Amino acid sequence: MVLTSENYFSPEMQMAYMGSSQFKAFQKCEAAALAEIRGEYVRPSTTALLVGSYVDAHFEGTLPLFKAQHPELFKRDGGLKADYIQAQSIIDRMESDRLYSLLMSGKKQVIKTGIIAGVPFKIKIDSLLDADTCQQIVSEFPQAAAALGFCDGAIVDQKVMSDMQDVWSDEDHRRVSFVEAWGYDIQGAIYQAVEGNMLPFVLAVGTKEDSPDLAALFISDADLSAKLAEIEDAAPRYQAIKEGRIPPRRCEHCAYCRMTKHLSGIINYKELSEDAE
Ligand SMILES: [Zn+2]
Repeated sequence: MVLTSENYFSPEMQMAYMGSSQFKAFQKCEAAALAEIRGEYVRPSTTALLVGSYVDAHFEGTLPLFKAQHPELFKRDGGLKADYIQAQSIIDRMESDRLYSLLMSGKKQVIKTGIIAGVPFKIKIDSLLDADTCQQIVSEFPQAAAALGFCDGAIVDQKVMSDMQDVWSDEDHRRVSFVEAWGYDIQGAIYQAVEGNMLPFVLAVGTKEDSPDLAALFISDADLSAKLAEIEDAAPRYQAIKEGRIPPRRCEHCAYCRMTKHLSGIINYKELSEDAE
């Protein structure tokens, strides 16, 4: 079966290919990730996710279809709910910016597959820029040269964030950039490796703040290759779990693990906080 935008997230394709979201899901909790692939667990869809998808659909040119498929976007009187009116204002803000618009002017939703550490991966690029567009951007915006100078193209991924503040990381015991907290560096490494031409990876960010903020960010090739090494280490294990060759580990903290937990004894309450570490 050929991978298309229609079947990109279908159970068959989620089983056949690892994507960046799936990889990140495995990093968080192997048991939940596997249950999701098998259709035994559906991650709750949040308004925040749907606002991001609304903006994606607009730039993809599929907003009418998206609206038809999501009656929950509308109030009873047929008007858009406040969250999606705001999504529209974020879109307007993005489109009013020349550099942002150029970044989003590439080929839309480009699907590719490739192999990383023996594991089949799939990617879907929001906006794939060609060399000419990159040159045009650099000539109009000299400060884009660090990201786009001397390249044959660029991979642009659009993000709608609540804001661009640093995020607390339990793992690192400190606040880290939202880019790391949400694993966009992992996504960039997967996209760059699968795309295959070592193109720069650029995030085109808009925020849901009252006055939406914008940013165009790149992740250095050094940071991307460090992340790729992590992916190469972990991906074969996740693939073996998908294929049923090794059992998944449970994190015992996530919604899925709480839902499927069985009590096995009675513990001293003082052990509870240790247990939660
Ligand atoms: Zn879990």
